[in-house]
Amino acid sequence: MADRVYIDADVLILGGGTAGCLAAWEARQVGGDDLKIVIVEKAFIRHSGSLSAGMNALNMYINQGTPEDYVSYVRYDICGAPIREDIVLSVAREVNDTVSILEAAGLPMKKKEDGRYLNRGKWNIEVNGSLLKPITASKAYEAKAEIYNRVYITELIIKDNVCVGAVGFGVRDGKFYICRGKVTLLCTGGAAGLWRPNNRRDAHHRIWYFPFNCGSSYAMCKRAGAEMTSFDMRLVPVRTKDTFSPTGTLAIGMGAPMVNALGDSFMEKDPYYLSWGGHTAPTPIRMLAFQRETLAHRSPIYMDTTRGDSAKVIGLKGQYLDMSPSIVLYWGCNDHDPSREPIELDGGDPHLVGAHAGMSGAWTRDISRETTVDRLYVSGDALGAAPSRFISGSWTCGRIAARHMVKALKDNSYQLLEINPDTLDDMENRTYGPMRRFEEKSPEGVWTDGTLSGGVSPKDMESRMQKIMDEYCGGRTHWYFVNETYLSIARKHIKRMRNDQLQYLCARDLHDLQLAWDVINRLDVCQLVIEHISFRKETRFPGYVNRTDYPETNPDYDCFINSRWDAETDEVKCFKVPYQQLVPGDRRKQSI
Ligand SMILES: Cc1cc2nc3c(=O)[nH]c(=O)nc-3n(C[C@H](O)[C@H](O)[C@H](O)COP(=O)(O)OP(=O)(O)OC[C@H]3O[C@@H](n4cnc5c(N)ncnc54)[C@H](O)[C@@H]3O)c2cc1C
Repeated sequence: MADRVYIDADVLILGGGTAGCLAAWEARQVGGDDLKIVIVEKAFIRHSGSLSAGMNALNMYINQGTPEDYVSYVRYDICGAPIREDIVLSVAREVNDTVSILEAAGLPMKKKEDGRYLNRGKWNIEVNGSLLKPITASKAYEAKAEIYNRVYITELIIKDNVCVGAVGFGVRDGKFYICRGKVTLLCTGGAAGLWRPNNRRDAHHRIWYFPFNCGSSYAMCKRAGAEMTSFDMRLVPVRTKDTFSPTGTLAIGMGAPMVNALGDSFMEKDPYYLSWGGHTAPTPIRMLAFQRETLAHRSPIYMDTTRGDSAKVIGLKGQYLDMSPSIVLYWGCNDHDPSREPIELDGGDPHLVGAHAGMSGAWTRDISRETTVDRLYVSGDALGAAPSRFISGSWTCGRIAARHMVKALKDNSYQLLEINPDTLDDMENRTYGPMRRFEEKSPEGVWTDGTLSGGVSPKDMESRMQKIMDEYCGGRTHWYFVNETYLSIARKHIKRMRNDQLQYLCARDLHDLQLAWDVINRLDVCQLVIEHISFRKETRFPGYVNRTDYPETNPDYDCFINSRWDAETDEVKCFKVPYQQLVPGDRRKQSI
């Protein structure tokens, strides 16, 4: 048995990232000094999560118009598909206020001469964001939250559909952590690494999304029996080739157009793309255009920085150093001058990012952010069906969740719940399973040349999973195309991995144990993705999920696809949930 650490909290926050730190701060504001707020984080909150490399823009800010106009923009940006307008609206109403709070905490804002924030388009503002994460973390310190860094959460503790807390292991001390909360917020981010990345071997983490958010939010909610949503929609990023750095800095910041190998600015020529607004077309349509140009053999595709505002090229490196320093090093190593040469693009591996240009996550009952499991709340990338909340929206989402959690806690006088000791023993066995298996196999189970006799390493299992998803579930190898035959092969292989092969997964040490849990979680999320994509018999998100067997949209699927996992049968049962339009207007057009 591992040494045990017992932690009790009023408000338990799992994941000390963008949403988690601001949730802690807000909980203190509304809950008062006596409230015990605990954050449990697998890394170190000053440098963890999506903000760890810094960012140079907050993609959600109401520079003009109203919160309702923002909802209309978000709808338009995913081709008019259904979104949770109630959630997006609730964030849009408070996002500017949240940004002021972060500015007061020391976030260096870029400003115009008149003192207003320097905007980049209608909904975006620029920041000097290299220290974005330490500044975000300072709000959790200010709230005097009790912070447990370097604890990897593996499972939620659920009793009769009520969340009691969570368990995990110390990634350095190896102890078994048992955390109880009167209310629990899960915000451990989105999911990277389900599909095979473009870069291999030691560079495999050079992807667009933060590589160490591995779908634990989604997998833990699914295993807890929560209703899940929109795993039929994923973000396929078109980014700078090799470094996978964001391109908004080039497109919105510099006005650089996307061009093909012939130098044609195809977004401004093709009537279909023009019908969507040309170079300002919704994000999936820009991805679709990139794919079509490539498949028509007019690649490579570039962002033509030589045609952009040349005065801004000089500041470009500074902006990337605030967010994605690897591209600046790459240019340095390769003698690349963006004012003289365009920047080549590539399509990356798909990601599940509920708060960015993706929608997957847990379904929430209402704007409280409570899931269908009582006392379990979600925020940030973990929350589904409400895209385009980004950094400032995730901060805000954390704040809103915290307010509702504290209110529910007080209104209902929630108490901590007891946990059956046998349940804890089972959870401990599952948590350390891959390491204990390795110990049982030692000494003959030695790892030679990366191979384990009688077991499978997390890396090998990850490679197998990524290959299946890439080749059979719409990865880059087939340019994001998928059909029912491919999906049935993906289903068969992922099922075999989950049901037959996980029993051989071995971990030599605590580092391997983290990698093992990363792959366990990802495999659970793969199952959700396959079943959701298979259920949506149409192509609603062209460029993101292209179904060759159902290439058009079908009005019967103008709804959310939600699901529940049945632990008895290991089946993901999908069903339709109607969309409610709160903001009137044509969903395929922006109101301003
Ligand atoms: C590369 C990239 C570029 C982006 N560009 C922009 C941009 O320019 N502008 C913009 O506004 N938005 C941008 N975004 C989006 C924005 O950063 C995210 O939407 C937002 O930060 C999500 O917040 P979160 O709290 O859900 O996740 P995170 O901030 O990533 O927090 C998740 C936390 O959970 C921890 N964690 C994960 N698993 C576990 C576990 N099992 N146990 C314990 N802890 C765990 C992680 O270590 C992390 O600290 C970008 C995102 C990425 C990744």
